[in-house]
Amino acid sequence: MILFKKTGDLHRWLDQTRNSNDTIGFVPTMGALHEGHISLIDISKRSAGITVCSVFVNPTQFNDPKDYQKYPITIEKDIALLEAAGVDALFLPEVGEMYPNGTTNLERYDLGRLETILEGKYRPGHFRGVCRVMRRLLDLVRPDDLFMGSKDYQQCMIVQRLIQLMDWSVRLHRCPIVREPDGLAMSSRNARLSPDERQRATAIYQALLALRSGAPLSTAEEILAASRFRTDYISICDPETLEPVPPSPNTVALIAAFQGEVRLIDNMIL
Ligand code: AMP
Repeated sequence: MILFKKTGDLHRWLDQTRNSNDTIGFVPTMGALHEGHISLIDISKRSAGITVCSVFVNPTQFNDPKDYQKYPITIEKDIALLEAAGVDALFLPEVGEMYPNGTTNLERYDLGRLETILEGKYRPGHFRGVCRVMRRLLDLVRPDDLFMGSKDYQQCMIVQRLIQLMDWSVRLHRCPIVREPDGLAMSSRNARLSPDERQRATAIYQALLALRSGAPLSTAEEILAASRFRTDYISICDPETLEPVPPSPNTVALIAAFQGEVRLIDNMIL
């Protein structure tokens, strides 16, 4: 695996790679890697000739400065995991490399209503930050295929919208959610849970299962409250638009809730 810290170096290497006719698969991450991230790399490696991964904790997508400061960083372990997973190139830029003109007065994107609901409502500015970093990364890597996790359901939709706005030809692949044995969706933020919080955190999965088996929203709320979650939202939505709909097969249930100080999100197709 080749490690790049500078955009110019990665750019030159990618240009040579493109000449060899290999397709480029890209997996963007914020590090503190777990099996969910590695599953995206495995999927990329099965279909793309070259797999590029980035590790960059993007400051512009954090609406809460404490969340940014406390975001777990495990770069040595990440490098070893990526090497073992067979990644061809790792991009590991500093903030100044991604935002040479600083992180204020940045461009805006017309994300429509998607930006104002669910995560957009509870994390103002978050998706603008996601678009800023994805714009820079995709402009640089110009992958044929982009692999993202459907754990971040709304983020996948936002990135698809960005792809459409920018008229890029990259194919976005929404990959399945990887879970711990007790059902908790893997997340870098799980590392911030205390042992008790970690045990209680599985209630999000239990609440989603209850919704899938036909329980009303109030039951899901009770399951979360019984495990001391503070809920931002529990919503059943149209899977294409994320507009709220009555529960029915093939709708999507989405939950965001705090366990202690840690905000977790998860979703499930009903
Ligand atoms: P992050 O490092 O949290 O920004 O995540 C990087 C990518 O990994 C995103 O596309 C996430 O949706 C994806 N991802 C995170 N957790 C999981 C998971 N448990 N299963 C599958 N993909 C995931």
